[in-house]
Amino acid sequence: MTANPQPIYFHNTETNRKEEFHSIEPGHVRMYTCGPTIYDYAHIGNYRAYLFEDVLRRYLQYRGYRVTQVMNLTDVEDKIIRKAQEQGKTIFEVTKPFEQAFFEDLDTLGIERAEYYPRATAHIPEMVALIQSLRDKGLTYEKDGSIYFRVSAFQDYGRLSGNRPDSLKPGARVDADEYEKEEASDFVLWKARKEGEHFWETELGPGRPGWHIECSAMSMKYLGPHFDIHTGGEDNIFPHHENEIAQSEGATGTRFVNYWLHCRHLLVGGEKMAKSKGNFFTLRDLIQQGNHPMALRYFIVSSHYRSPLNLTPEGLKAAHAAWSRIMDFHTRLREGLQSGKSGAFSNDLERAVRTSVQRFEEHMNDDLDTPRAVAALFDLIREANKILDAGPVERGQLQSVSDTLRRIDTVLGVIRPEEPMLDEEIERLIQDRQEARKRRDFAAADAIRDQLAARGIVLEDTREGVRWKRR
Ligand SMILES: [Zn+2]
Repeated sequence: MTANPQPIYFHNTETNRKEEFHSIEPGHVRMYTCGPTIYDYAHIGNYRAYLFEDVLRRYLQYRGYRVTQVMNLTDVEDKIIRKAQEQGKTIFEVTKPFEQAFFEDLDTLGIERAEYYPRATAHIPEMVALIQSLRDKGLTYEKDGSIYFRVSAFQDYGRLSGNRPDSLKPGARVDADEYEKEEASDFVLWKARKEGEHFWETELGPGRPGWHIECSAMSMKYLGPHFDIHTGGEDNIFPHHENEIAQSEGATGTRFVNYWLHCRHLLVGGEKMAKSKGNFFTLRDLIQQGNHPMALRYFIVSSHYRSPLNLTPEGLKAAHAAWSRIMDFHTRLREGLQSGKSGAFSNDLERAVRTSVQRFEEHMNDDLDTPRAVAALFDLIREANKILDAGPVERGQLQSVSDTLRRIDTVLGVIRPEEPMLDEEIERLIQDRQEARKRRDFAAADAIRDQLAARGIVLEDTREGVRWKRR
């Protein structure tokens, strides 16, 4: 921890205001982040949430905290069951490839790994025990072999989202894992076995868990009944997180989470993404269109997580240009250090470094205000470039500018030093791709194109063959 740490403020959804952050355990932050349902490739909107959580995690580390982060992988719920039935597969056959793809995407975007990625199907006994404890406290009822949470029996229901149980109609009960009703409803904890669906034989009878219960069971298993931060996308607030509070506090009788942080949706062309609107993009789609993964990362992390963000070609272009300026500066510093040239110590540069670090931290402390924090970095880049244009500075000072940039980048995570690909390497991959296409293995061909795109190599299929260029 720094000697005189300034407080960090987070906007807490529960109280709807910025609050000074204090961890329960000194120097250690325990946080839970709702993860993907692994039945398909995650779309770029999902990655907005994971990138916000990555920046949150990185900034806490920057401030000297040890972070224990848990992200669940939902590998049993309605959509997965439906897909398994449609394709005549087991739920594990459906989820396995997408789980792998998810981790590949995290690496592509430079998202740090959480400490735990628990899978719902590996925590059935924990969920059963939690439901039993809710049952013992009179918070549940049973209907046709399914078990529901009785929302009206939990005093505090609605604390997070404002959807109070007084709006509950008698008998309002939902079985679906995801529902968007604007009113409180009794929700399913355990679903009775249905013909053709995967089920577990348990003390609650044969069946499977509802979606909400896994996050309560797994967060409390890995982080304890009371932990610091819980995050998600804004669509998780109700009903999912409201239900998590009811399940967890209903069972333990103690406070579940201190700070709830939620990020806004990512819009595409001003609209919410939907497959039917043709504005639905996976990370892989965007890379295939020629976007550099680090420019995409920059595009998302440089916007404030609670502000609307609209994905447009112009926005991506501007993000690429800004990200390139950071990379150019990084290269300039590296080359300057390699050249071994040294000049005079610059007081102006010293001041620019100090001011920009101070501002960077000030803005990050203010509910992760990344747009202003990034602006502080650009102030430094502009000042430093001006000074370096006039001639080399003292080598030690150049080193400290470089260290500052690296330190700021432990939070932003946009600098990825990469060796440029050799021409032979590119030609060989193009050859492999041509062969894959000849044997009509288009998945393999596309994978090679993606791999090249990720390294900034753009392919162009022409009548004369494949041409390539560096972006
Ligand atoms: Zn969750």
